[in-house]
Amino acid sequence: MITITEALHRKDRQRAEAEANADARTAELCKQIPALAKLDRELASCGPALVAAAVSGDTATLAGIEQHNLALQQKRRELLTLHGFRPDEDAPVYSCALCSDSGYADGKLCACVKKELAYAAYTSAGLGKGLRDKTFDNFSLQYYEGEDRARLESILAGCKKYAQNFGEDSRSVLFMGKTGLGKTHLSAAIAGAVAAKGYRVLYETSQKLFDTYEAARFGRSDAPDTDKYLSCDLLIIDDLGAECGSQYTAATFFNLLNTRLIEGKPILINTNLNRPALEKMYGERVLSRLLGEFHVLLFAGKDVRMQKLSQ
Ligand SMILES: [Zn+2]
Repeated sequence: MITITEALHRKDRQRAEAEANADARTAELCKQIPALAKLDRELASCGPALVAAAVSGDTATLAGIEQHNLALQQKRRELLTLHGFRPDEDAPVYSCALCSDSGYADGKLCACVKKELAYAAYTSAGLGKGLRDKTFDNFSLQYYEGEDRARLESILAGCKKYAQNFGEDSRSVLFMGKTGLGKTHLSAAIAGAVAAKGYRVLYETSQKLFDTYEAARFGRSDAPDTDKYLSCDLLIIDDLGAECGSQYTAATFFNLLNTRLIEGKPILINTNLNRPALEKMYGERVLSRLLGEFHVLLFAGKDVRMQKLSQ
């Protein structure tokens, strides 16, 4: 987990690096184009002259130097173009165009820093390296054939689109299908992509989620906070149905679903359970919420893990 100060220091380093690279490029160009070096010396001399004019309050001189400075800059761009370079050939390339890697835009903390903080919070919370490694890019379709492959291709495309367009009005999603068909992989890929956009994503196995509620219910002193399940922008529940079910878990799950749905906060759930099994474990009310308000994606095919093992 990183702090704002650390995130800002990182931006400072990025900015310094971008500017050092730009300076190195300028030095190279000046060697190739002597007229550019001469122009840059002229431009550099504008600085002190501008300060002197500003201090003395001589507005006419000040305006004159400013004009001269702009004309020199224009000449510089033309000179670079003339030699076959881009007009901004040696301008620093910042990772964030909004704040030029200063970390602040319009006097406020820039979106790039907020994004980094959100992503850091997400990667430090729960999602282990095994899951962080699961991305859209390394999701393989090679184990699927025929109709299954076509279906998975369309699911993959849909998941990418979902992550790309994720926002406050995103729908909740339910992945259904037998074990070993890539549901966890795609859930983790969505988690990573949505968190990288700066949203607060919480990825939890259903076992851990219900354990946390259970601990909070009995008021254990070390009980973790359950508010996070309601406050995060996207809650991902992995392997729903793998927990030891009880009336308590069914009621807890219904309340969680209901609260998030009412507040319009999306949930992504993956489960190996089929429709009758879901109904048996959580009851009819939960089933009707899941089937009525979630976008349901059915995974089909042979167990990918078994296929990988047998190779
Ligand atoms: Zn920025």
